[in-house]
Amino acid sequence: MILYYDVCAIIIIILIVISCVLKKMMHGRTNGLFYLLLLCMMIATVADFAGAYIQDFGAHNEMNRMAEYMAQYFYFGMHNLLLPVYMMFVYSNIGMWHDFKKRNALQAVWWGGIILNMVVLLSNAVYPWVFYVTSEVEYERRAGIVIFYLTAAFYMIYTLYLLGRYRRIIKRDKLIVMFLLFPITCIGITIQAILPTHLVEMFMISVATLLFSLVIRREEEQLDPQTGARKYSGAHERVKNFLSTGVPTYVLLIKFVNYRNIRMYLGHELLSEFLREQSSRMNGIARECSLEGELYYLEDGLYCVISESADYELMHLFATRIRDYYFDKLPLRSFSVLADVRLCILCCPEDIDNYNTLYTFCSTFHKILPETKEVMHYPDYVNNRDFKIKNELDDIINRAIGSHGFEMYYQPIYSIIEKRFVAAEAFIRLRDDNYGMISPGLFIEAAEISGAIHTIGDFVLDDVCRFISSDPFAGLGLECIEVNMSTSQCLEMNLVEKVEGLLKRYSLNPSLLSLEVTESAVDFDPDVVDHNINRLNELGIRFSLDDYGTGYSNVRRVTTLPIEIVKLDKTFVDGIDDPQMWIMVQETIKMLKQMGKKVLVEGVEEEKVVKKFTDLGADYIQGCEYLQGYYFCRPLPEKSFVEFMQKQG
Ligand code: C2E
Ligand code: MG
Ligand code: MG
Repeated sequence: MILYYDVCAIIIIILIVISCVLKKMMHGRTNGLFYLLLLCMMIATVADFAGAYIQDFGAHNEMNRMAEYMAQYFYFGMHNLLLPVYMMFVYSNIGMWHDFKKRNALQAVWWGGIILNMVVLLSNAVYPWVFYVTSEVEYERRAGIVIFYLTAAFYMIYTLYLLGRYRRIIKRDKLIVMFLLFPITCIGITIQAILPTHLVEMFMISVATLLFSLVIRREEEQLDPQTGARKYSGAHERVKNFLSTGVPTYVLLIKFVNYRNIRMYLGHELLSEFLREQSSRMNGIARECSLEGELYYLEDGLYCVISESADYELMHLFATRIRDYYFDKLPLRSFSVLADVRLCILCCPEDIDNYNTLYTFCSTFHKILPETKEVMHYPDYVNNRDFKIKNELDDIINRAIGSHGFEMYYQPIYSIIEKRFVAAEAFIRLRDDNYGMISPGLFIEAAEISGAIHTIGDFVLDDVCRFISSDPFAGLGLECIEVNMSTSQCLEMNLVEKVEGLLKRYSLNPSLLSLEVTESAVDFDPDVVDHNINRLNELGIRFSLDDYGTGYSNVRRVTTLPIEIVKLDKTFVDGIDDPQMWIMVQETIKMLKQMGKKVLVEGVEEEKVVKKFTDLGADYIQGCEYLQGYYFCRPLPEKSFVEFMQKQG
């Protein structure tokens, strides 16, 4: 017999193993199955070689006859495993492992074929109906061998069906070589059947495997060295895979809400280390929960885990463990990081059945984060009122602009000196047919991004001016109405002309209007903002600084602008039960008073707070002049506000 083909096959298999080891293809199921395939091929080829060698060169004695039997048992045992292992390998390699795991009947048939082959092979020891070795150490095939051909045909046809079914999600080069294995093997078998002395079958299989090893991608190549998780591009492929098959798959989104702060805090290099550590921790938690899945890093602190099983309970357990893990601070070298995470589980195709919607949802999840730290399930999250509003905000705002959906509310401002309401602040409200009343906290930011804030701002100024010029207002004894100005409004080049036009139109005394600006606006583009504020102030309009104490305060700029009142934010005065905080609030008031500003305390809800501030005495240098908050009155619609003020007498 011609043995060189088997020798070549052994050399090729050894070369494939060496190249795989050098390529560090060490981890993961796909790599494991590939090595198992190579091992089966190696044992089958060595046994094939040994069997042929004994037949050609062995003496015709009982010992060699037994050795020949052993060689053939090993050959058939391993050869019969090649196709089932290859089928598994294809499943794993094309990312459809979960599909196999879900199909119990298929698993049973898969195992059934292997067990049947084993039983048939072992029964040959009792009655040689598969093959027989004569006393001249000649190998003969018997009828039972047909069973091996039949099981092989099943695995082959099923694997071909798999390749055909998932052809769209497999890369072309990979698909071709995966498919090529079959004709190449068939050619080998045919040649060997026609020329029994040419042992080309294993040689042909090893050549096909060599081809395959050239296009196989290492698991490790799919990992992003920066984050230790799989790359974004891998997630695209994976998502398209399972969506195209319709197999239910759970996806968990994990977003680090404070990612930008963490990035600023840690710097580039430490951030990578931090992300790698999180990837390894998340993979560790998945192992602890026995969750088989892949971790991807999408972008901007957003991770995604794609589970390989359609088991919601398991995914939920994993998500809950992740949530618990991030409750505590994480040590990182000499730093300690508090990562704030939000989690959402979604099921494809039940919740989302196409790639574009999933992609859009991932980017929405970045922007519209759930309030709660609890694990969210997609339907609860997207059916939540806040989510729906935020998601449709542009439409809602446009609808409101078109259908007069905006309305102004007013909250009185109490003067400690005069012991009465001397002014009021105007707040916008949006009334939507679908969602009812929507707070500006939800829509002002979106309006700033979309540019709708200018139309909204125009409405606010116009409506407040109309109210100030109305008859009922004249009898209320108010010195002014404060209007909130957003940063983009302060940057409008024609703001002065606009306000001037309104004052003329409603024949208003400018001092009845006070505009509230925030620190961020004051700090934005000094040239335009200074010009607007100074010009409007020259006209007689007053200015207040809103939300003082919530952000970074450019005190120098505060002193240079004609700001009359500084409004201390609620969050700043909330902690005054703490003696240290109370000292800070008092010192801040003192500082502002020394700068010639008046001080207003916002968000006053309790009597004890009113008492604390009134006790300071407004006429002294350490006291504040004004109080505002729910304690006195909630913001009211114009009509109710007028009635409320009239009742004050
Ligand atoms: P802001 O100007 O600092 O307004 C204070 C917010 O606190 C208002 O919420 C007000 O209703 C609420 N508030 C008043 N007293 C209390 C209290 O005692 N306790 C608590 N917890 N809250 C109190 P609102 O109306 O939802 O407005 C939120 C923010 O939206 C405002 O903060 C302001 O920045 C912005 N905004 C409101 N109306 C307008 C507007 O017409 N134009 C612009 N550009 N922004 C507006
Ligand atoms: Mg305000
Ligand atoms: Mg405020």
